[in-house]
Amino acid sequence: MDVLEPVIRFFRQQRELGQDSIHLEQPLSKVCSKEEQLRKIQDQCQNCRLCQLWKGRTQIVFGDGDVNARIVVVGEAPGRDEDIQGIPFVGRAGQLLTRMIEGGMGIPRSSVYICNVCKCRPPENRTPEPEEMIACEPFLKQQLAIIRPEVIIAMGNVAVASLLRSKQGITRLRGKFVDYEGISLMPTYHPAYLLRNPALKVESWQDLQKVMSLLGIPMPERNKG
Ligand code: SF4
Repeated sequence: MDVLEPVIRFFRQQRELGQDSIHLEQPLSKVCSKEEQLRKIQDQCQNCRLCQLWKGRTQIVFGDGDVNARIVVVGEAPGRDEDIQGIPFVGRAGQLLTRMIEGGMGIPRSSVYICNVCKCRPPENRTPEPEEMIACEPFLKQQLAIIRPEVIIAMGNVAVASLLRSKQGITRLRGKFVDYEGISLMPTYHPAYLLRNPALKVESWQDLQKVMSLLGIPMPERNKG
């Protein structure tokens, strides 16, 4: 997909320059609990000015949910509601995500960990620029390394481009598990995209059912048949 090409090219250039990731200030202690490790990363994130998005934020939106989650959902970036509340996926797209998790999969939203590629809201909710994605990536990578879920659900083109470095868009990639550093990753549509294209909810539900099947999550009675 054309929109991803500049993003992937930027990532490749950065890698060739040896700037594939930005090292955070302090190494994590191996004796810390997951909560403590995540809190340390979040503390470093609070005052981050590694890209220009800090200028428009009310606060960072780091992540929310169970640090021992079997599933981590990765989205794009906070929107207006998330920026105000400091919690990911609380606007209209977030409400749809909650319905997908609780109404569809039959598990509490609180049992899942939810975060975004970028931790600060882009102006006017625009798509994050490649340099913003790569600047923020170390936070996401560390979140995933600490939580080590069994499945990552990557929602939308930005999450897929950041995690998989794939030139292919979500339409091509969705519905098939791929490996992300030893973790099964399911690419699927972003809920905001589903709000604009409700007919695609069927495909999204198929993707979630594959995640449920892999994890042995039983289909809720109301969704059978
Ligand atoms: S988006 Fe990420 S890298 Fe950019 S300022 Fe915010 S926390 Fe830092």
